[in-house]
Amino acid sequence: MLLNIVAFCVFYALSALAYYFNHRYIYHTKPRGPRAIQALWKIWAKFHMDHHRHWKQDDPETKTYVKVPIVGKLAGLIIICSLCLLINPGAGLGVGGFFIVYGIRHGTIHGFKVANIFKPVNKDTHIYKHHMSHHMPGGLNVNHSGVHPFIDRLFGTYHDPDDILRRSSSDH
Ligand SMILES: [Zn+2]
Ligand SMILES: [Zn+2]
Repeated sequence: MLLNIVAFCVFYALSALAYYFNHRYIYHTKPRGPRAIQALWKIWAKFHMDHHRHWKQDDPETKTYVKVPIVGKLAGLIIICSLCLLINPGAGLGVGGFFIVYGIRHGTIHGFKVANIFKPVNKDTHIYKHHMSHHMPGGLNVNHSGVHPFIDRLFGTYHDPDDILRRSSSDH
């Protein structure tokens, strides 16, 4: 039991870190070099770039890019099942737990009711402002952790969301 609990925590943390580094160094860093690498990057980052184009609550396409696509769900399921078999159920549930927390928080931050239970997040909350500040033109290079702001603090990419939101609203 203890090993499962430890594995759950370790794999939850690894998933959150993998998300952060992928978001910071791959999604938002267009590669140079061979065309094949650039073509691969375009495929890999497309969904995220589409999310950055459609993120406002009044945009009818926002929901499409907030939901995890079917390929992502299948890949997640394969990883979770493999970890359950190769390590222990705690490891698989750690990855699954991250996907669930991310899905609920991200959906509710963007103003959707998730699974008919979780209500949209209040716009005055730090978690809302932190995520939305990344969607602003002045926030693209900071606040990459999605729904775990302390990870940005840990790696020095945290920027006060109020500051970004204030500057963005005065730009318009
Ligand atoms: Zn992004
Ligand atoms: Zn978002």
